[in-house]
Amino acid sequence: MIPVFANSAHVFTRERLVLRGGRLTKVALRVRFGLIRHPKHGPVLIDAGYGPRVTQGAGRSAALKLYAALLKPRLDPLQSPLAVLAHYGFDPADVQTIIVTHLHADHVTYLRDFPNARFIIAPEAVRFMANHSHLGNVHHGIFTELLPDDFADRLIDPLGLPQVEAPFGLGQGADLFGDGSILTIPLPGHAPGHLGVCFPHLDPPLLYATDAQWMMQAITQDRVPGFPATPLVFHDRAASQASITRIRAFIDQGGEVLLCHDPAPSRYDFTDQTDG
Ligand SMILES: [Zn+2]
Repeated sequence: MIPVFANSAHVFTRERLVLRGGRLTKVALRVRFGLIRHPKHGPVLIDAGYGPRVTQGAGRSAALKLYAALLKPRLDPLQSPLAVLAHYGFDPADVQTIIVTHLHADHVTYLRDFPNARFIIAPEAVRFMANHSHLGNVHHGIFTELLPDDFADRLIDPLGLPQVEAPFGLGQGADLFGDGSILTIPLPGHAPGHLGVCFPHLDPPLLYATDAQWMMQAITQDRVPGFPATPLVFHDRAASQASITRIRAFIDQGGEVLLCHDPAPSRYDFTDQTDG
């Protein structure tokens, strides 16, 4: 059971904004989402990428229109969640489980396309949204119009699932299917309730650390960007640093880490040559 991570879009930003001492030139960040084909539970998504609901359509709030105009994601429809699922012969209705690592727009755009999915998400993420949605606040990057109307009825709290010890000092994780194959790992700091996903049985164990940082060198070379980093990079800077320390220890003990936005290719990246 090997996950694949597809790239729903590119976002262009000055490297220095996401990497301390980085270049002033622009770097093409990826916007990954994951797909796991579980033998018993079918296709499981990790987030749902960027899509046209962010970039077009009259139904968008003014805040979402402004967000899209500022970030200007360049979508890749050939690597949308729908296209990647179709590549493996799945229909959106087949998806029963989506791990929602956090509620930033670039992680949730396709959630409305999965009528049968339940959402594994930290309650802190949902609470923060409930307390801030009235602001229509661009700098939080959360837009309730992107979520299914019955979102609140379809949530699963990872802390309500069996907790097991994740490898290499990551701490406790929720064992999603009771088989130890997929663990969600709290990685607080980037956004309220921010989650990573660990695959302990891969060789070496893999941690998808989502948005714990945006470039791997920020973690491995101790180059976390300083101010002015936007609230889209840090919700809680101290918690973020503690998560990075834990991720770094996981790497030092032999673990492999993948980030959502890191521009470097990964052997887990989806291509249309990836086995169906
Ligand atoms: Zn984010």
